[in-house]
Amino acid sequence: MAVREVVIYPDEILRKKNTDITEFNEDLKTLAEDMFDTMYHFEGIGLAGPQIGVNKRIVVIDIPEEDGSQGKNKVVIINPKITALEGDKIESQEGCLSVPGYQDTVDRYPIVSVEYQDLDGKKCVFEKVEGLLAICLQHEIDHLEGKVFVDKLSRMKIERVKKKFLKLQKERMGK
Ligand SMILES: [Zn+2]
Repeated sequence: MAVREVVIYPDEILRKKNTDITEFNEDLKTLAEDMFDTMYHFEGIGLAGPQIGVNKRIVVIDIPEEDGSQGKNKVVIINPKITALEGDKIESQEGCLSVPGYQDTVDRYPIVSVEYQDLDGKKCVFEKVEGLLAICLQHEIDHLEGKVFVDKLSRMKIERVKKKFLKLQKERMGK
């Protein structure tokens, strides 16, 4: 059990290639637990491997209940592949633990299907899921493709956000 450090945009770690997981062992279970610990600590609903500097195809998600509580919908998603994106794109208000304190609206599909493996390597599917889970799956799987949600914003906004976070990075390093 450990809260890991979160990689902050625009760090290049978020752009690296993320490799498939081939060994479903105790180390993988520990990694998943650390990812949940980190996600809860920073009050997120999803976290991808590269966000803690692990460039592997693993995502954890826990969609909160209506009262905001978490723990009932924990899912570990390994080697995911989106198999279908359906419906007319909708506007999604998003934030990201790697872009702390920043929120903006991006386009997402309302319905998504995903093939993945669980912690034991068993093949699983999300079939035509909707709502926050559908949005979260697209956001987190984007991370595994080296993408961050702010990439979807206008060039002007991207420049502004990048500037802001580079400045913060400098301040942190100056400490
Ligand atoms: Zn994110």
